[in-house]
Amino acid sequence: MNKRLIYSGKAKDVFETDNDNELILFYKDQATALNGIRKEHITGKGNLNCKISSLIFHYLMRNGIETHLINDLSDNEQLVKRTKLIPIEVVLRNTIAGSFARKFALDEGKKLDPPVIEYYFKSDELNDPAINESQIESIGIANESELQEIKKQTLAINKLLVELFNQDKLDLVDFKLEFGHFETGIILIDEFSPDNCRLWDQTSHQSFDKDVFRKNEADLVTTYKKVLDRLEGVR
Ligand code: UDP
Repeated sequence: MNKRLIYSGKAKDVFETDNDNELILFYKDQATALNGIRKEHITGKGNLNCKISSLIFHYLMRNGIETHLINDLSDNEQLVKRTKLIPIEVVLRNTIAGSFARKFALDEGKKLDPPVIEYYFKSDELNDPAINESQIESIGIANESELQEIKKQTLAINKLLVELFNQDKLDLVDFKLEFGHFETGIILIDEFSPDNCRLWDQTSHQSFDKDVFRKNEADLVTTYKKVLDRLEGVR
């Protein structure tokens, strides 16, 4: 299959194929923090994120959520539907952590009921600034009904994933999603892995996500492998 690199991100490369309707995602052995300022090669990371994300996207698809995933091409490559990216990052928070704790000077660990949904405008140059619904609509990033759809899907995905991780004795603290326009409507794109969510062990409260890298708490590959093992254990 011919492929041409069209975008190189922090964790993935994106390739065009001879089929205009499809893209290939290549998961890199690279971890970044501080918006790319800290960058490290980590052998095996791409493989793990690709497998975890595939497993989660297949679970979501079995449960009625449409995603861009077509199939896995190798241990670190996925074939996906080409969509028109909506340039916002949607963050859902079930529990106080990270930037939310810092912003409001709150202790980490308190449950948020109902969950909080936040939006960030995707721009490395601007450092992904927070953006609100009114700004999203007025700038023309998405209209009201598209935003309602994004919110509806985000909440449905949250419910399904809280249940999934709960079976593995992990709390889904928060996560980030991205969406794109496809011929069938707005669908989930990008990836779902410990790179873009927080998972806390329900007993030890240890992190099983990228915080182990951000805070130099534990080995990233060992940690992500444990997440994959737990997820595979419940299949
Ligand atoms: N997140 C992400 N990409 C980003 C920013 C955040 O995937 O560019 C995820 C992050 O891993 C966490 C959630 O979104 O699961 C909320 O992140 P937060 O705003 O707390 O930022 P952080 O403290 O991680 O910088």
